[in-house]
Amino acid sequence: MRPVVRLLILTALLGEATGVGAPVVLSALQAAQPSTQGSGGVNTPQHREKPYVVLVSFDGFRADYLDRIDAPSFRRVMRQGVRAERLIPVFPSKTFPNHYSIATGMFADRHGIVANTFYDSQRDAAYGNAVVPGSVEDGTWYRGEPIWLTAEKQGMVAATCFWVGSEAEIQGLRATYWKKLREQPSVETRVDTVLQWLHLPAEKRPHLITLYIGDVDGAGHRFGPEAPEVQSAVQAVDRSLGRLLDGIESLPIHDRVYLVLVSDHGMAAYTTGQYMAIEDLIDLRGVRVADAGPNANLHVTGGPARARAVRDSLNRALRHGRAYLRAEIPARLHYRADPRIGDVVIIMDEPYQVGPAARTPSGPGGSHGWDPASSSMSGIFLAMGPGIRRGSTIRQLENIDIYPFLVELLGLRSSPGIDGHPGLVRRLIMDQQRVEGVPVGSQR
Ligand SMILES: [Zn+2]
Repeated sequence: MRPVVRLLILTALLGEATGVGAPVVLSALQAAQPSTQGSGGVNTPQHREKPYVVLVSFDGFRADYLDRIDAPSFRRVMRQGVRAERLIPVFPSKTFPNHYSIATGMFADRHGIVANTFYDSQRDAAYGNAVVPGSVEDGTWYRGEPIWLTAEKQGMVAATCFWVGSEAEIQGLRATYWKKLREQPSVETRVDTVLQWLHLPAEKRPHLITLYIGDVDGAGHRFGPEAPEVQSAVQAVDRSLGRLLDGIESLPIHDRVYLVLVSDHGMAAYTTGQYMAIEDLIDLRGVRVADAGPNANLHVTGGPARARAVRDSLNRALRHGRAYLRAEIPARLHYRADPRIGDVVIIMDEPYQVGPAARTPSGPGGSHGWDPASSSMSGIFLAMGPGIRRGSTIRQLENIDIYPFLVELLGLRSSPGIDGHPGLVRRLIMDQQRVEGVPVGSQR
């Protein structure tokens, strides 16, 4: 194309976008810089032939539900793709830290979302909708680079039908399309939203879509992982997954769509008498209990000596668990680096819990947050799409390795300094020639 023609087309496009003429061309061009403005809702031309990735999270879907509950749509994905027998969460095996680890490829002590609810003593502020409504929408809490930002910064349109962090403007950016969880749309509506996005014209069609479905977690908490109510919840989300699969199959671009199904953590049953009231264990003066349950994060005023004293008193009184100074937490849990974690952390043995007496469960139920190495805390991972092996099973994956895999599928540059391992998931689940030959998303 001759330069003059190209300039005319560019001017015309910019004029259409801004509603004004030539004088604003320069500022509009600057505004279109992907690193500061995202995609602006339009895929840059080099992305338009790339694949599409739909990432779906089923909160609290324990790995073994797939073995013992009849779920035909999940079976359909297993037949057409790869299943990992377990997806290993990060510590703590809770919803917010794990969704954000999947999105960023980082452990919780590096991406900043150290618990569902936490306290930052430097800011003297707390995160978590249970304690400060709206705090999850404040982008300054989030570190690392979630996958939708990686896409948007490089000029690729992204969409989030919920994900931890997706309602916040992080580094000044959001996905082009995003939704407010407060509006609580049904799962059917969420699936239809995703399908509508996939029907948009190519320049506006998001190449990355996230979808969050919470129903299985709720049933697991109320009734415990072995309950028939969990089976019903799994079968209900299975029907929604079927709707999504049918919708994707009928798309003209169906052979360019990757579907990646995950969960954030598993679930373990507890019964009465397995909850320790923290008031019975130590004197809480000068101690702020930021989060409790399978683990508890304590902020202690009075300096390191006082923190050591709190740890020692706890360990004298505590059965079925252990208190650590933050620096002493076992290295394999990757839960030391961030002061938001607290000065003293209590880690309980499964299925015991610790926390304020007022939060003692009234009866048996299910919970999660315990050691990610425990099989009951394992989540699911299934993937299908061009080049992914069909009907194959692998043993396990860590959820920090998902971000680099998605980056590779989409042919994007990874955010630097992640904890996940580039190439690992690809080597495990994709056809050999795809791994060694031309990369899937024609990466640069
Ligand atoms: Zn939960």
